[in-house]
Amino acid sequence: MFIQIFPSGPFSTNAYVAACEQTREAAIIDPAPDSFSAICAFVEFRELTCRKILLTHSHWDHIADVQRLKEQYGVPVYIHSLDAPNLRQPGADGLPCWLNIPGVEPDVLLKEGLVVPVGNLTFQVIHTPGHSPGSICFYEPQQHVLFSGDTLFKGTIGNLSFPTSQPDLMWPSLDKLSRLPQQTRVFPGHGPETTLAAESTWLPRAKQLFS
Ligand SMILES: [Zn+2]
Ligand SMILES: [Zn+2]
Repeated sequence: MFIQIFPSGPFSTNAYVAACEQTREAAIIDPAPDSFSAICAFVEFRELTCRKILLTHSHWDHIADVQRLKEQYGVPVYIHSLDAPNLRQPGADGLPCWLNIPGVEPDVLLKEGLVVPVGNLTFQVIHTPGHSPGSICFYEPQQHVLFSGDTLFKGTIGNLSFPTSQPDLMWPSLDKLSRLPQQTRVFPGHGPETTLAAESTWLPRAKQLFS
């Protein structure tokens, strides 16, 4: 798999393009504000075929450019059902939003355990509520890669003070992630890449540290 990161928008949200090296089919993950042009240029430059848009959750800084990219590539949008309302109607989640974001009807509603193929890659959906009710992580078990959204960052966890947050649900979600293979590379919604091994020094104590 190759992975390109596009930190974009006022919170440097990480938009990603993840592509199968054999088929050159790609998924866009979390198209952040103003990521559209850079993503399109990259897809063209690497001669990729964009197949899907995958969303880790529906906070506005992760969905701002969904509508433009969906239109550009004519591809389906995937999101967990519990985060779909704010994709359809941005602002419905009660977060203060700085931008005017067009609503998008999701094409596929995800839940725990579903598998989303992209070329020869298979992304397993891990439901990790806490930061938002429909937060999910995408795990590729062959490549040991995890897109962790705003659930797990290098050295810390997602904000639990938003109107969408349910702190009690976050601890079991982090526990789920900590049981994945330690060599798993983690690509979070903000900030640098890490590994589960690197985060294992504190992850089992997340509840004590952050609650
Ligand atoms: Zn978020
Ligand atoms: Zn975010």
